[in-house]
Amino acid sequence: MRYITANQIFSGKEFLSDNMVIVLNQDGLITDVTTINQVESSNIEYFEGIITPGFINTHCHLELSHLKNLIPQKTGIVDFGLAVIKHRNDIALEFKQEAMLQADKEMFSQGIVAVGDISNTDVSIQTKQQSKLYYHTFIELIALNPERTSLVFDAGKQLASQFENAHLSWSFAPHAPYSTSVELIKKISDDCFELSKPTSIHNQESKAENDFFNSKSGDYLRLYKTLNISIDYFKAFEKSSLQSIVSYLNAGVNTLLVHNTFSSEEDLKMASTVHQKLFWCLCPNANIYIENTLPNVQLLIDNDCMLTLGTDSLASNFQLSIINEMNTIMKWISNISLEVLLKAATYNGAKFLGLEKNLGLIEKNKKCGLNLIEGFTGNYTVKKLA
Ligand SMILES: [Zn+2]
Repeated sequence: MRYITANQIFSGKEFLSDNMVIVLNQDGLITDVTTINQVESSNIEYFEGIITPGFINTHCHLELSHLKNLIPQKTGIVDFGLAVIKHRNDIALEFKQEAMLQADKEMFSQGIVAVGDISNTDVSIQTKQQSKLYYHTFIELIALNPERTSLVFDAGKQLASQFENAHLSWSFAPHAPYSTSVELIKKISDDCFELSKPTSIHNQESKAENDFFNSKSGDYLRLYKTLNISIDYFKAFEKSSLQSIVSYLNAGVNTLLVHNTFSSEEDLKMASTVHQKLFWCLCPNANIYIENTLPNVQLLIDNDCMLTLGTDSLASNFQLSIINEMNTIMKWISNISLEVLLKAATYNGAKFLGLEKNLGLIEKNKKCGLNLIEGFTGNYTVKKLA
C-alpha cells in the first residue's frame, strides 16, 4: 500500500479539503481517500505541489507525428492544411511508426492516461496496441459532396473493421463543417448513437469557415480551387458554420467540438440549446501555431460550456502535453481559473470519452493514475506519481 498526499489534491472535479491522503494498492487502484489522522504518519509520502488524476488528451492525431517541425507556423488554416496534405505521405512507414512511438511515450511521461485520437488510416494501430495509454480512435470521414456520403461511409467501415479486429475502441467522426456534408455528419452522428460512442468534429478553427457558411466566400474557396475540387453544389447557409450544422448532430451523442477559435456568444448559446451533450475542446498551442490566436476561453466558461483539452498533432505543436496547453492558456489569458482548467484536463475529458467510471476522478475503486503538478501559474510541470 502507498499513502500519498501533497499541499493540494484536485479530485478531478474540485480541490479536496486539506489533510486528505490517497491510499493506493500495488496495482495503482485507489482503495481509499481518507484523512491524514487515519494513517500512521511514517507511512505517508508527502509531495510539494498539486496531485491530480491522470490527464485526458481529447484531441490528437497520432498519425501526423512525423510532421513535427515541418509545417510553417502562423500561415492560417488553408496553407497549413495544404502543407499537411503535401507532406503527410512523403516518408516511409517505418519513420512514421517511430515518430508515433515517440509521441506515445511522450504523452505517457507527461501524465496523460487516455487519448481521443483522430485517424484517417490504419498506421497507428500497432502503436495503440502496444501503448500503456488508453486510446479511443475517431475514424475521420471527409466528403463535402453529399453524393459521396455512402461511398465514404462504407470505406470508413472497412477501416473500422481493422481497429475492431485489433480490439481497439473506435467510432466515426466528421472532419469539419467545411469538409463534410450535413448528410454525412448526420449519418455519422446517428451511427455513434446506435453504438453508444462519442464523436468529434473540428469547429470554427478559422474565420474562413464562418465566411464559407455565411456567404460561400473567403479562404476556403482558395483551398478547393488549389485542390481542383468543384464545390458548385455547395450553397451558403447564411449563418455561422456551427449554427448551420448543429441540428444534424445527434443530441444523444457526446460530441466534441474541437478548437472553437471563432465561436461567438450567439453560437455557444444556440448550440447549447439544441444539443446538451456538447464538449468544447481547447487546443491553444495549435491555435497559436496555425492562426496565432486563441478562442475566447472566458466566454466559454461564462456560458457553462463543458471544456476539455487537446494537444492536436505534432504537425501544429512542439509537444504533446496537456500541462503545456494549460500553461499557454494561463499565459495568454489572465485570471483564468486553475480549477476549471484542471477539470477540463481530467474529469470532463473522461466523461466525454465515457471513461469516468475508472478515469478522471480520484475516488475509491478507481485506477485513474496520479499526477503531481509542480511550479507556478503558467509554468507548471508534471510528474507521474502512479
Ligand atoms: Zn485536429
